[in-house]
Amino acid sequence: IESDKDRLPTATIDLAAITRTVVDELRRSDPDRGADLEIDCAHAIPPITGDRAQMSQLLHNLVGNAMKYGRAGTPVTVRLEPGDAGDVTLTVADRGDGIPPEHLPRLTERFYRVDSGRSRALGGTGLGLAIVKHIAERHRGRLVITSAPGEGTTVTVHFPAVQADPPTLS
Ligand code: ATP
Ligand code: MG
Repeated sequence: IESDKDRLPTATIDLAAITRTVVDELRRSDPDRGADLEIDCAHAIPPITGDRAQMSQLLHNLVGNAMKYGRAGTPVTVRLEPGDAGDVTLTVADRGDGIPPEHLPRLTERFYRVDSGRSRALGGTGLGLAIVKHIAERHRGRLVITSAPGEGTTVTVHFPAVQADPPTLS
């Protein structure tokens, strides 16, 4: 995750179109669980500064988690909402078992997995959210993960409006 993902986003991207493409891909790759995927995008979504491939990866990781850790037959909602200043908020919500609060601060560490039998049985490497965090930072996005055990998990990423100046390393 050092090389490709270090590329700074410079293009102007259509997040709604990328979201629809990723959701279509996930529906095809898992038709059963894919039937529970819902896109909630009632408003026009303004373009943002971003990297298409990185954003696609971020969406795959977040929606993939919601499908994997949610419960079959319960909805996975992917929502896009425009802010007042050209900014955009992405929300991915599931109704799975949730994450105990003591684990939340460490979720975006590489290889960190909640040590439940369920996580172990489902497989994975524990890199998905570390990559999401990295990509969100590259896009000057703000990543927030909230979870209620027994009720589900909600991940939001807030992206700033399209930037006049090319992004620089901070
Ligand atoms: P990988 O994404 O590399 O295949 P992974 O899914 O285990 O593996 P992450 O996506 O980084 O890794 O997630 C880290 C851990 O956080 C998971 O193992 C799981 O325990 C927990 N987790 C992530 N998303 C959810 C979710 N939506 N609901 C419940 N637990 C989650
Ligand atoms: Mg994952």
